[in-house]
Amino acid sequence: MSAATTRSRTPDRLCAEAVELARTAAEEAAAPGIVGAHVEAVSEGDRVVTHFFECKEPGYRGWRWAVTVARASRAKVVTLDETVLLPGSDALLAPEWVPWSERLRPGDMGPGDLLPTEADDLRLEPGYSGEDTPPPNSPVSEEMAELVEAEDAEVTDGPVAALPLVPTRGSIAAVAEELGMRRARVLSRYGLHVAADRWEEGFGAKTPMAQAAPASCVSCGFLVPLAGSLKQAFGVCANEFGPADGRVVSLAYGCGGHSEAAVMPKPIRPSPHVFDSMNVDVLPLRPAADSGSVDSSGPDEELGHS
Ligand code: SF4
Repeated sequence: MSAATTRSRTPDRLCAEAVELARTAAEEAAAPGIVGAHVEAVSEGDRVVTHFFECKEPGYRGWRWAVTVARASRAKVVTLDETVLLPGSDALLAPEWVPWSERLRPGDMGPGDLLPTEADDLRLEPGYSGEDTPPPNSPVSEEMAELVEAEDAEVTDGPVAALPLVPTRGSIAAVAEELGMRRARVLSRYGLHVAADRWEEGFGAKTPMAQAAPASCVSCGFLVPLAGSLKQAFGVCANEFGPADGRVVSLAYGCGGHSEAAVMPKPIRPSPHVFDSMNVDVLPLRPAADSGSVDSSGPDEELGHS
């Protein structure tokens, strides 16, 4: 029988009349004065009825105390099943719980925080596993390792096993370590794609800064190239005055700080003075009285005689 059919049935009369039993049970579970008016009685099945009471707790608006009572077949005594607080149709509910791993946003991590990475994180894939079998002619193959060890034995003239070689020279682990490839996991193809999409969105060709830039990063002297496949599309900006200093930028990005976009104007050279203002010009206050020629005495002397 479906739940809808069960609920539509008429509640058992004795159970439906046990309102006070239900109220007492609700008041025992709640704080005094929290249980409000009786709302309804709902049939849960044969001789099983749930009584609903309003909850007057301010923080639980729309919630209801639900007290289920039941009666055995051919018994007249109604007994208590359970008492719970349930949300009504207009109850104020907390938002749906979201795991922290889905709530986490870029920039949420602080100093000392640890961010565990799931074992099946799609952004990562196993790096060097140590269990790969290289082809026989590979420089890291077992055959080559044996050769190297044999050479070692000749040089050192001692048992190879006694040498403290961990990992063994010529082994995959040793070569991988030498090449800096000894990471348990590396970026997967998916990880590369999502990183590239994110960088493209932040510092890509479609940003307003790039649209207004005089030239793109690919020709900028401040661009530091990346290694690996990402270098085909990205680099790192090293212009401390640029908007993307220290950030990964698309080669199609650009900004007004482009090294070649604007040439610094040469400093203005002042033109020579028309009048020489640095030297003292000796000028007479009046012409000489006898000859009409100019008196050659200095202005101080002239001033002293007057
Ligand atoms: S200074 Fe501007 S154009 Fe040059 S690399 Fe940085 S972001 Fe690109």
